[in-house]
This record gives sequence, structure tokens and C-alpha cells, in this order.
Amino acid sequence: MAKYVYNFTEGNRNLKDLLGGKGANLAEMVNLGLPVPHGFTITTDACRHYLAEGSVPAGLDQEVAGHLKALESEMGRKLGQADDPLLVSVRSGAKFSMPGMMETVLNIGLNDESVHGLAKQSGGNERFAWDSYRRLIQMFGKTVLGIDGDLFEQALDELKGRRQDTDLSAPELQQLVETYKGVVREQTGKDFPSDPREQMRLAVMAVFDSWNAPRAILYRRQERIPADLGTAVNIMAMVFGNYGNDSGTGVAFTRDPGSGRQGIYGDYLQNAQGEDVVAGIRNTIPLEDLEHLDKPSYDQLVGIMETLENHYRDLCDIEFTIEHGKLWMLQTRVGKRTAAAAFCIATQLVDQGLITMDEAVTRVTGDQLANLMFPRFDANAEKKKIAKGMNASPGAAVGKAVFSSERAVELSSQGEEVILVRRETNPDDLAGMIAAKGILTSRGGKTSHAAVVARGMGKTCVCGAEELEVLTAEHRFIAPGDVVVSEGDVISIDGTTGEIFLGEVPVVDSAVVEYFEGAQEPVDGFDGAQELEDDLVRAVDRIMRHADQARRLGVRANADTPDDAARARRFGGQGIGLCRTEHMFLGERRQLVEDLVLATTDGARQAALDALEPLQKADFIGIFQAMEGDPVTIRLIDPPLHEFLPDIVELSIKAATGQATDKDRKLLTAVKRLDEQNPMLGLRGVRLGLVIPGLFAMQVRAIAQAAAEVPGARPEIMIPLVAAVQELESVREEAVKILADAGVSALIGTMIEVPRAALTAAQIAESAEFFSFGTNDLTQMAWGFSRDDVESAFFSRYLDLGIFGVSPFETIDREGVGRLMRIAVEEGRSARPDLHLGICGEHGGDPDSVHFCHDIGLDYVSCSPFRIPVARLEAGRAALTNTTSDTR
Ligand code: ADP
Ligand code: MG
Ligand code: MG
Repeated sequence: MAKYVYNFTEGNRNLKDLLGGKGANLAEMVNLGLPVPHGFTITTDACRHYLAEGSVPAGLDQEVAGHLKALESEMGRKLGQADDPLLVSVRSGAKFSMPGMMETVLNIGLNDESVHGLAKQSGGNERFAWDSYRRLIQMFGKTVLGIDGDLFEQALDELKGRRQDTDLSAPELQQLVETYKGVVREQTGKDFPSDPREQMRLAVMAVFDSWNAPRAILYRRQERIPADLGTAVNIMAMVFGNYGNDSGTGVAFTRDPGSGRQGIYGDYLQNAQGEDVVAGIRNTIPLEDLEHLDKPSYDQLVGIMETLENHYRDLCDIEFTIEHGKLWMLQTRVGKRTAAAAFCIATQLVDQGLITMDEAVTRVTGDQLANLMFPRFDANAEKKKIAKGMNASPGAAVGKAVFSSERAVELSSQGEEVILVRRETNPDDLAGMIAAKGILTSRGGKTSHAAVVARGMGKTCVCGAEELEVLTAEHRFIAPGDVVVSEGDVISIDGTTGEIFLGEVPVVDSAVVEYFEGAQEPVDGFDGAQELEDDLVRAVDRIMRHADQARRLGVRANADTPDDAARARRFGGQGIGLCRTEHMFLGERRQLVEDLVLATTDGARQAALDALEPLQKADFIGIFQAMEGDPVTIRLIDPPLHEFLPDIVELSIKAATGQATDKDRKLLTAVKRLDEQNPMLGLRGVRLGLVIPGLFAMQVRAIAQAAAEVPGARPEIMIPLVAAVQELESVREEAVKILADAGVSALIGTMIEVPRAALTAAQIAESAEFFSFGTNDLTQMAWGFSRDDVESAFFSRYLDLGIFGVSPFETIDREGVGRLMRIAVEEGRSARPDLHLGICGEHGGDPDSVHFCHDIGLDYVSCSPFRIPVARLEAGRAALTNTTSDTR
């Protein structure tokens, strides 16, 4: 029979798929002999079954009952037993951590009888017992019964007045329990379920259901977590941090998740239960101060942190609770960190002898590197600093202040850049956090919800700026000195320093970009920030060098101008994989293009071509010079014709209102003749070259002459949009002659961007010395939709329905488009073993797609100059990992 429940003693950290991250790591801690409360895990299999069938799998109830019985006998108490109750928590926990996105219910097992038993058990601590009971109804009401949490919060706030929750007396809390029960009755028409087993059963299903809560779906999409994994459920004996001042609860990191530095990082809250720390209900104390409150627990915790780091060989984050001076570990995982910390930690672990350089490369991602290349604030600019908070997630963000998630979404959809300002965030703010450029909160530490989620998303965040008074309802905040910032006012926040500025602060290149540019200079007079920056640049340098040694894929650039070409070289590009020639026909040269299109005689057409040729030649000379002997793949013109010709509507209006000149009228006739219903499937690429005699020949001649003038130039001529070998052959024949006349040698190849070309690659390879996959068009034609037309129309629906995991224009669709590519690679190489293969679609800079290109054996990827470092790193990672699809 299928096994759906595992005791913590049965699992280990490799079982994340089955037990979720939380369950697998709890089991691992048990295996390490750390103090973990007893418990068991219901598998993700059970969840998937429940979500698919609408009911739990047969046998699950009995299996859970069996494990509960074992737990009860281990603890010497029965769940919810009136005079001496066992209480449990029911906790979600998926394979990939989704902080706060799913549900957890604490204190299951309390009711009107067992609350007295709990008080007795605690030596007569009535206050504690009623506090635990009201927490149960509150959490259960919100997460299991779906009652608006504000109703409970309001009742609590009313009772508290200006006091803190810890100031409430036992009778007051008892009264609050009655109020809460009233809320439950009013909202659901039923009484709060008093049967402990029923509470547990309902909570388990609520955790399963929370996998498909809107915010969880949104988070998964943002983080590219597959939609079909499901969550495990952990059932664990409660331990209590809310017993009194010798108890408490906290979170910790084994190193600074912001910088990677070793040390004691975390927050602790006395007399509190789990959620209180991250929810920011009271101000936490820094973890170091626990040493003065409870030295033995503190020392034990520091020892455990070291054990965990050495065991996981990585930064870990930890949840713990102290009950009457006894330390309990409640969770650990390899912790989220900023991009900068990821690089620093990876190299530090190498220096500590915990991991190899190969592993270090796999510990960082291209997305993290891209994140480090974002601009930062100009240190020399004039700024008006209004406050400082905690540097929770780095970056420089400028935008209009908004005070609600809804408003953030609304303004950003209108193209505005916004900073989401909240007292603290909660999981319901996720949509606004995604929409915002940056996040600013006045409460909560580096482990608060805002900080954790922002770091995960690589979004700038300043949190816990306590000097700010955030008046959410009034849409404004007040900074020291009575500076009032209202909705719509522009602010700038620096997630690296925690500073908050009024107005827009100009930004400059990041230190990492300066490093790639070769312009990073040591700065006199060390300050903390500079030191961090130097650490980071050194770490990036080491990792990039190692990735370059390891990778098999070459990395080239998509670059059309000498400036871009030069940057591409500085960033480590090994040539140009796509030099488009269309833009060379724009601007002042448009006139010549019009002449070309209007030409009705051979003479007129040749005159237009003759005028264009020297201009083209000069363009190519510039690029060859910038590339200093590296290969340059030049694509012959592939214009979307409609973008080149004068606007048909404008001309028609001119004609209709009698304002058209003679030339306008001729143009209109020509434009009408060339007007297409579907330009993307129209007269483009090689087709145009075959229809306008002399056009391609002119370009090839310009290339040949330019190459002849620049010593070492290595042109490669690429024919776009070929679907049949015959198209290629006729262009090739002409080009070969022109090159021979000029005494220049160049490879001649083709784009593979039409499905037919992929499917007839063996034939095409007879005439092509290289292939370059144009995956934008290939995706478009394989799926039968054009990106510009449909992306906003139905992509989000397709993502919801799971038809895409991610847009196929962002990441290569391996099954469809990828299959066409595989066929082309195989067939092409079978016909011509030394066929050179690359990709020049935008996918060339996408991490997952780079791994795919490595897998299918391409020789290089080509991407925009700014993505080159990302592609180099991912190519290195691809060579060093066996896991091909998981680039997280
Ligand atoms: P999340 O995934 O949102 O962090 P958790 O399942 O970790 O949710 O639980 C929320 C909080 O409750 C955490 O602070 C956790 O440490 C605490 N908690 C969970 N189970 C127990 C327990 N058995 N005893 C005491 N505290 C618990
Ligand atoms: Mg947790
Ligand atoms: Mg194309």
C-alpha cells in the first residue's frame, strides 16, 4: 500500500520532493541529533491526490491516526485531552520555500476544556493558556474557515488599546476567546470546532488547499516554481515561546543574508509565539542580545548554527523557540540571500574548504549576476536624505510613493514606477510588491516578510525605517523634521545602505558593471560600503574566471554598432553572433530606401543601391575595427517592411486632402502595392533579397570591401528567413563570386527560424557553413502567434491554465521549439560534420535556454552585450551541473 506519512525519524534532506523542504530538513535535523519536537509529515503525494480528486487518498486517515497515536505515546499526552492536552501545529511546506504564502495553524487541540488542562500543565499559567487558545481560534478562523483576519485583529486592537499584547490579563484573554468564538459563529453560522481531531483534519485540508491560494499561485509564477508540486503537511508537537519572559521565539541566519559576512544575525522576541517575529507585532531584539537573557540557550544555538552550516555547507536560516529556557529547533533551510551575498558566500565557502570552485560556480545564478548589474545611486549627486532604515535587499529604486498593493498595481500598469510604502507587508501585498520598483516599510527586521520576499525576488527593499510614521489610510508618511510624503511624491530608496531620499536621485553603473567594463578602481579611504563592494568584485571575478574555464559554449553578442561591439568585447564576448543591418537603412538613409522601393527602372534601382553601398561599407569597417579580429556574423537585411515604408494612413490623408506631392502619390501607390495583411509572414528576409535584384549583392560587396580594408576582419554572412535550400543556393552563388572578386574569405550560413528550415536541415546544411537559430521567429512560427500581438491578449490566461510554465519568448519551449532545434542540429551535423551552430534569438541570454543550448551541443550563444556575463556564467554552470533544467 502507498505510504503517505513519514515520521520525522524516517526522512532526510534528500526527500524534498516527497516531504517538502520543511519536512525534509526537520528530518535531517532529527538525524543530526538536534532538539526538534516530535512529529510527522504527510507527503506531497497525498496533497496532489487531494487536489486532483477533491478528497484525501484512501487509507490516509488511518495512517495519520497511527502516527498520531505514536506521537501521543512519545509525548505521554493525548491530543486535546481535557486535563493534560497534547497540542500540535499543522504546517505547510513545499519543495521550494514560499515564505508565508501558505498556511500554518498552531495550538491545535485546544477547546473550552483542554484550555484548563493546559493552564494546569503550565503550573497555573492561565494567561498563557488563554493566549494560546485565542491564537488558535484566530489562525484557524482565518486560514481554515476563511474568515477575514481583520475581524480578529480589530477585536484584539480594541481590547489592547495602547497596551501591548503581553499586557493583556488572563480574564481579558478569556473574554477575547468569547469574542472570537462569536466572530466564528457570525461568519460561518457554525460554532468553532471543539473536537481536536476534527480541528486537525480540517487544518490538514486547509494546508493542502492553500497550495492553490491566489497569492501562492502568483508567487510561484513570479519565482517560476511549477504549479503541480503540491505541499506536504507537517504535524508537530507544540512547544511554547509564550510561557513568559524565560521563553521566546526567534529567527536566525548563519551569516548575513545581505552581505554574506559571518556573524550572528537574527531577531528574537520574548514571550511570543512563532508568527509574532515576522509579523512585526512588537519590536524584536537583535539575536546577539539573547546572550544576556539566556546564555546557555544562546551558546547552544550558536553551536547548532555552526553544525548546520558545516553540514549543509551553505548559509542556513533557522526558526527556533525557547520554552522555559529549553531550546527547540523548528525549521531550517538553505537560506535566501541577496545576489551579492550569494557570490561572496560561495567564494568564502571555498576558502573555508567546505566546497570546491566548481561547486561555487553552481551556487550562483545568472539572474543574480544580472541583478548585480543594475545601477546604483550616484554617490556624488545632491540628495535630500529623509530617513534611514535597514538595508534589506540591495539596489537603487526611484518611484512614486504608493500606500497600497492595489494602487501599486494600478499605477505600474499605467507605466508609472512606484515604491510601495507600508508599515509592514503581509502575503496579501505580493501583487503590489511585484509591481513596485522598490519596497519600503517602517517596521520589521531583516527577517520580516517584506525583506525575505524582496530578497527572493531581487527587488530593492528598505525595511524597519522606524523614523517614518506611515499613515496608510491617509496615503502619506511623515519623516523626521515633519517632512510629509504623500501618494504620488517621488522618493528614492537605497537597498544597499538603507537610506531614503526625497525626490529622484540619479543612478550610475554598478560596481560589477564597472568591473566588467574594466574601470573598477580601488578607492582611497575605505568605508564599509566600499569594502563590501571590493569583496563582491573579487568574488565575481573569481567565479567568472572559473566559469569561463569550465564552459564549452562560446558567447557572442548581438551588436549592430561599433559602440555595442566594443562593450561586447569588454564584457567577454567572443565575437558578434548577430549584426543586424536594418538600422543601417534608417534615419537619413530612409530617403534612399524609398528611392529603392519606388524605382521602376533598373537604372533607378541601381542608383539607389550605389548610393547605399559606401554607407554600408563604412558601417562594417567600424564594426570590424571594434571587433579586432573576432568573428562578426552579419545578417543580410531582414526588414519588417511596414516599419520602413512611410505610413500608409498619413499618405492617404495627404492624398485625400489634396496635399500630396507628386512623389507622395507615387509612394502611396508603391506602399499600397507592398502593404501586407501579415507582415511577419510577408515579404521578408531572403525573399526580399530575391525580389529586389542587387540588394543582397550590394550588401555582400560592402562587407567584402570593408573586410579587405580592415586587417584580420572575420566576416560571416548570414541569410535570414530561409525555408528551402534553393533560396539559400541562389544567394550563396552570387555571394561566393563577389567575395572571390574581392579576395576575401567568409563563411556563408543561414538563420534557422522557419520550421521548414529546421525540418530540412540536412538539405540546407549542404549549402550552409553555419546555422544560427533565430528563436524569436522560430517560436512565433512554431506556435503560430506573434509576440507583439498576443502577449498582452492571452499570455496570462495561458500561464494560469498551465499551458505555459513561462512565456516561450522568454525561455525556449523545449518540447516544441526545442525539438525543432534538436532536429536541425542532428540533421545539419549529419550532412556537414563541422557545421558551426549558434543561437541569436533573445533566448541566448536566458539562463534556462543557455542550459538547453549546452545540452543540444551548440557551439555558441549570442545575446545582447549586457547579458554576456550572464550567458558566460550560465554556460559555465551548464558544463558543471548534471541537472539541466533547474537553473534556480
Ligand atoms: P511558514 O512556512 O510561514 O514559516 P511555519 O510552518 O514555519 O510557517 O510556522 C509559522 C511559525 O510557527 C514559525 O515561526 C514556526 O517556528 C512556528 N511553529 C510552527 N510549529 C510550531 C510548534 N510545533 N511549536 C512552536 N512553534 C511552532
Ligand atoms: Mg517557517
Ligand atoms: Mg528573424
